[in-house]
Amino acid sequence: MARNKVVGAVSVIGAKIQRAIGWFVAILFGAVGIDFLQDDPVDMACVILSFAVMTAGIIGIIRGTKKIKNAKIAELEEAKAEAEAAFRAKNPEPPKITYVVIDCPSCGGDIKVPKGQVSICEYCGSQVQG
Ligand SMILES: [Zn+2]
Repeated sequence: MARNKVVGAVSVIGAKIQRAIGWFVAILFGAVGIDFLQDDPVDMACVILSFAVMTAGIIGIIRGTKKIKNAKIAELEEAKAEAEAAFRAKNPEPPKITYVVIDCPSCGGDIKVPKGQVSICEYCGSQVQG
């Protein structure tokens, strides 16, 4: 549990760094691209390359944001699972009774009785071991 939280926290930090780098790259190369556009004559190769790098930065922002969101969802789900496990620990389910069908030794009738318990035959009233 604790290890998962550490892993989760580390991946959130990684995602935040990715997002921050994405912003930095997008703004920087967006500005560089706009700057290249103002040259005369315009060097299209430089413009395209700058905007391509800017796009990579934007993808980094989107992916980083998505990872942060997923990590938060995973954290919530883990907290929910822990709460459910704690609830089950406090409220254990009653032991299940299994039934067996046997022939009554006295009357031969088919009767359904709880396994491992002594019951009364519903036909003849004699005691039957389940
Ligand atoms: Zn019987």
